[in-house]
Amino acid sequence: MRKATIFFSLLFVFCVEIFAEGERITTDHFVITYENISPEMAQRFAEQAEVAFNDVTTYLSKKYGQGRINIYVGDKYDMPQTNRGGGILIPANRIRGDAPGPPSEIAGRGPSITHEITHVISLSQGKPSRYLDEGLAVFMQEKFGTDKSYPNMGGDVHRITAKLIKTIGEFIAIDKLEKTRDASVPENLRRLAYLQEGSFVRYLIEEYGLNDFMAMYEGKSYEKIYNKSIEDLENEWKEFIRGI
Ligand SMILES: [Zn+2]
Repeated sequence: MRKATIFFSLLFVFCVEIFAEGERITTDHFVITYENISPEMAQRFAEQAEVAFNDVTTYLSKKYGQGRINIYVGDKYDMPQTNRGGGILIPANRIRGDAPGPPSEIAGRGPSITHEITHVISLSQGKPSRYLDEGLAVFMQEKFGTDKSYPNMGGDVHRITAKLIKTIGEFIAIDKLEKTRDASVPENLRRLAYLQEGSFVRYLIEEYGLNDFMAMYEGKSYEKIYNKSIEDLENEWKEFIRGI
């Protein structure tokens, strides 16, 4: 308990410190602190963030009443991410368009802002596995994102998932997804974990509807909502992916 308290205190101090640096833009829903991008780039990104906020809150019928969301853009981070305090961290190279990586993937390394805003609006409440959170974020980025972003790099999530499963030779079991998303896992497996999560969530939403999905996402059991076990739904989805 004490360790956790110290950890969160440090995290808080750290976040305050990084948000204190750089230039700042305040919009209806964000305070964007930025370094190493031009004011014009920051302005375009701020407009993109406002559009994404509107897309996410409208589609998920969510109100966000916790004030403006902090976004930090700078070169301190390698990956777009949402921190535990609900702030969003975006690498500046994702906005400048010079993120490192294979040439074939450069165009697919956008800021993922719709993905990260989905996390803030529908933040996981300490569930043991966050596969539905990541799945919803990947789904929303695919559906509404104006930039091409990880893990599908702008392509169709179902098709890319099916293709990568054929390359790797097997599915990742749902209860192994959380661990496979860890940064120490080989990149193609890690990417497959995100893709499977996005594909599974998209399948549930398109097959059974958003209302049922959100009821389950917010705590109701699979059995209660779908009248099926998670294993049944996983198998249904696997059949669907094998048929692509
Ligand atoms: Zn995420």
